[in-house]
Amino acid sequence: MTKIGLEIHCQLTKLDSKLFCSCKANYREFEPNHNICPICMGLPGSLPRLNQKAVESATSIAMALSCETPEKIAFFRKNYFYPDLPKNFQITQLNVYGDMSVGGEGHVDVKGKKIKIRRIQLEEDPGRLIYEGESERTKITLVDYNRAGTPLVEIVTDPDFENPRQVRIFLNILSDLLENLGVAEPGLEGAMRADGNVSIEGGNKVEIKNINSFHDLEKALHFEITRQQSLSERGIEISQETRHWDDKRKITVSSRSKEEDQDYRYFLENDIPWVKISQETRDSLKKNMPESISSKKERFVAKFNIAPQVADILASDKYYSDLFENAHSDSDAKDIANLITTDLMGFVDTKEKREESKLTSHHLSDLITAINDKTLTRTSSKTALQEIVKSGKSVKELLSEMDLGQVSDSTEIEGIIMQVFEEETQAVLDAKENPETVNYLVGKVMQKTKGKADPTKTLELIKSKLG
Ligand SMILES: [Zn+2]
Repeated sequence: MTKIGLEIHCQLTKLDSKLFCSCKANYREFEPNHNICPICMGLPGSLPRLNQKAVESATSIAMALSCETPEKIAFFRKNYFYPDLPKNFQITQLNVYGDMSVGGEGHVDVKGKKIKIRRIQLEEDPGRLIYEGESERTKITLVDYNRAGTPLVEIVTDPDFENPRQVRIFLNILSDLLENLGVAEPGLEGAMRADGNVSIEGGNKVEIKNINSFHDLEKALHFEITRQQSLSERGIEISQETRHWDDKRKITVSSRSKEEDQDYRYFLENDIPWVKISQETRDSLKKNMPESISSKKERFVAKFNIAPQVADILASDKYYSDLFENAHSDSDAKDIANLITTDLMGFVDTKEKREESKLTSHHLSDLITAINDKTLTRTSSKTALQEIVKSGKSVKELLSEMDLGQVSDSTEIEGIIMQVFEEETQAVLDAKENPETVNYLVGKVMQKTKGKADPTKTLELIKSKLG
């Protein structure tokens, strides 16, 4: 049986400052090496000061993943020398000597399968290495310390996954959960990263590192399972090792160095005393936790009678559920939900489009009102939505500017019907014979009016003309 485990790193991008200094947690807006200070650069004499909010965010994540959260946590130094680490050690957590990280022993339900969360720890992100140059010989390495010290949560699972598909579903659930908690933005480049480990029946565990995206993780897992199976079929032993994902060749390659825990010379970070998280703090964190995705979904279905698939899309995406909650009244909730999940989705399906979008929840309620009082047809509402996302104009402005209003004037519709009858003589004969084919003619009228003709009136008029 295949066993897969994961190590996920997620930046707490919603925090104002880094884990141990007052530099910004959101380093992305800075020129290289412009979001640094003596503390995150590890200059002699500087002392770390723990960001209390980061401890609270990490504890909330632990709680949302049904973990046990301890009363007292400790930080450790993980010593290693690498250019992205200015202090030559990373401040992280470890579950040893009775000291606990922010959470442990949790679980996530993945389509009926329980995936156990072994540990959640709070640590600092290292800096970033940027490689430039064409070949190995001309390659230069640049280092940017803006990211050094960014609060990072590491989530470690047990090897409970049986295939890469379960991994993908889990990562989607986890990233929706983190977004919903309001502590992280998993969609930001590099804000959520995952490494995996794989073993097959009777074989040793192999870790895969250096994976840039969830998409690549899935490919790397598939490759690794096939590689191990092929070794095992030929009777070759699978050695316990760390392998790197080679993005260009799409294979995993054995890495020369393999550090063991003991190589890191972990010891207690004495510059940060034990941190107490009182029962009171934990109770208040739990009480103030945003409603979970599953309970949101249940509420949408039960209260507004929204279809479960639609409720699922709305609830799992914080952007959509916020729009929905602010737009709907009890009577039009179902219409708003459908408008978001059928018409709007295509226009705001990426982070960039969402940031540029000028749409607010007011637009959605105004659109539904216009559709319901028949000043706008359902078909035109899609054109209107696209324009709103682009320009942010009000529904009222659009109705007068864009000629989107519904055509319900009988004379105007009759004129168009006459045109259609002239062009579609055979269809007219067919409709006289067989009334069921009349919808073809209605469709033609809708086409000519770009969906603006009142469909009920059009059908009535066509029927009366057919006699
Ligand atoms: Zn700093």
